[in-house]
Amino acid sequence: MADTYDAVIIGAGIIGAAVGYELAKDGKKTLNVDALPAAGYGSTSNSCAIIRVHYSTVDATALAAEAYYDWLDWHGYLGPGGSADDSGLAAFHATGCLVMKTAHNGRLERNCEILDQLSIPYEHWSPKRILERLPLYDLKSFFPPKTLEDDSFGEPTGGAVEGGVFFPTAGYISDPQLATHNIQRAAEAHGATFRFNAKVTAIPTAGGEFVFGAGVKAHCSAPWEGRSGAARVLADSEKVTERSQSGGGMSTSAAGRSTSAAGNDDPAAGYVDLCRLA
Ligand SMILES: Cc1cc2nc3c(=O)[nH]c(=O)nc-3n(C[C@H](O)[C@H](O)[C@H](O)COP(=O)(O)OP(=O)(O)OC[C@H]3O[C@@H](n4cnc5c(N)ncnc54)[C@H](O)[C@@H]3O)c2cc1C
Repeated sequence: MADTYDAVIIGAGIIGAAVGYELAKDGKKTLNVDALPAAGYGSTSNSCAIIRVHYSTVDATALAAEAYYDWLDWHGYLGPGGSADDSGLAAFHATGCLVMKTAHNGRLERNCEILDQLSIPYEHWSPKRILERLPLYDLKSFFPPKTLEDDSFGEPTGGAVEGGVFFPTAGYISDPQLATHNIQRAAEAHGATFRFNAKVTAIPTAGGEFVFGAGVKAHCSAPWEGRSGAARVLADSEKVTERSQSGGGMSTSAAGRSTSAAGNDDPAAGYVDLCRLA
């Protein structure tokens, strides 16, 4: 029951799903394994959905700026496979993003330096400009934050916002979890596999084989060494719970029902006595 993959990606949040998709598009055989029941159910589902390009390092900024155009052309990025997602497509709203200059964020000077290096547009907005564009905005300073119990909660602390930076290449996505599901479908259209409710419990370093699953006992043996870039998945994580102790290699265990042996015993293939529940 073992399958081989060019890449096994632990996690199917927005990052893991996108990594799987990019590799699958590149012709790699990939597997995403996630402990949760669906793609994008981790941090991704808690995201405020803001898509922005102002980051504090050149690399992160360049990556985000490139990705902006994929959000803008979501249909094109996903290709026909992802665009056919039965759940529908996430929508990107290209609103731009206004961030106020504060002492706390270094008045965004570092961000602007990086944007200059990468020729990414931005605009300095004066308080007057902010109020022209956002008349409801209150420019009074409320920093530092206070708890609800504080008697002066909601009271201005003196001073006023001195301006902001508007980043036109920004916006928000309608539903980060759905966006991740779209990418999953796009990846699957390129042959990628996703497995959910399967937690990686160990990554043995000796034999190049890793172990995952609720209640998994698994085996790692040496034949994988020398197979550069290949990882082997042992079996369906929800079913695999036990193996016998034949053969060498590493064994890890977790809670689970033990079963009688009925597994594959093929040392040459790299795993031994993988047993399954009925
Ligand atoms: C409240 C909040 C608001 C945010 N707002 C924004 C925003 O507006 N804009 C923005 O760009 N970013 C925002 N972020 C950050 C953004 O959500 C994360 O950077 C992004 O979702 C990370 O994606 P990920 O795929 O790396 O992580 P996750 O979405 O957390 O995916 C990781 C996955 O790995 C799985 N996993 C972990 N360990 C194992 C294991 N051992 N075996 C199997 N599976 C495993 C988890 O189950 C999970 O599904 C926000 C984050 C939070 C919490």
